[in-house]
Amino acid sequence: MQINVSQQLKSSIGQVRNYEVDGVVSINESNVTAQGKVRLMRTDRGILAKGTLHTEIELTCSRCLSLFNHHLALNIEEEFFPTTDINTGAVISLPDEPDCFTIDEHNILDLTDAMRQYALMAIPIKPLCQQDCAGLCPTCGANLNQAPCDCPAEAVDSRWDGLRNLVLADSKTTANKKKGTK
Ligand SMILES: [Zn+2]
Ligand SMILES: [Zn+2]
Repeated sequence: MQINVSQQLKSSIGQVRNYEVDGVVSINESNVTAQGKVRLMRTDRGILAKGTLHTEIELTCSRCLSLFNHHLALNIEEEFFPTTDINTGAVISLPDEPDCFTIDEHNILDLTDAMRQYALMAIPIKPLCQQDCAGLCPTCGANLNQAPCDCPAEAVDSRWDGLRNLVLADSKTTANKKKGTK
């Protein structure tokens, strides 16, 4: 997701260029591909990057614990600041802004870090594989999205939570044992 902006840095303020970007970004320790369109505009201080990048990441559903692919559309808008003067090669001091994005000494504007930061912010805290995910049966642990289980519907009494969890853990162990013997 690197763009050489040496020509644009030499151009006048307000000049715009459009790019299609495509690359691999590491998010939560897995590499995902991302692509999209970005519009770069020369500003008085650097280059403003604005665009929408798309990627798909694998998440675990917070209700049924299954893995699913989640599409992210990231609307990025960040100003990138050059670290060296395009004409003289002199080092430019960066603006007094925390964690601002930079253009390196080879005039490369790299969208990867911005993309990663936006993606991490966009990942839902409690991901759901679908809005109406039915979750797991609290009694037998079956994934109710696949099929209803045979457990009787019961009124949930929170005083029995501890015991129910024990039963759930036990039924899982039994299920695993059964799998193991096959
Ligand atoms: Zn789910
Ligand atoms: Zn059940």
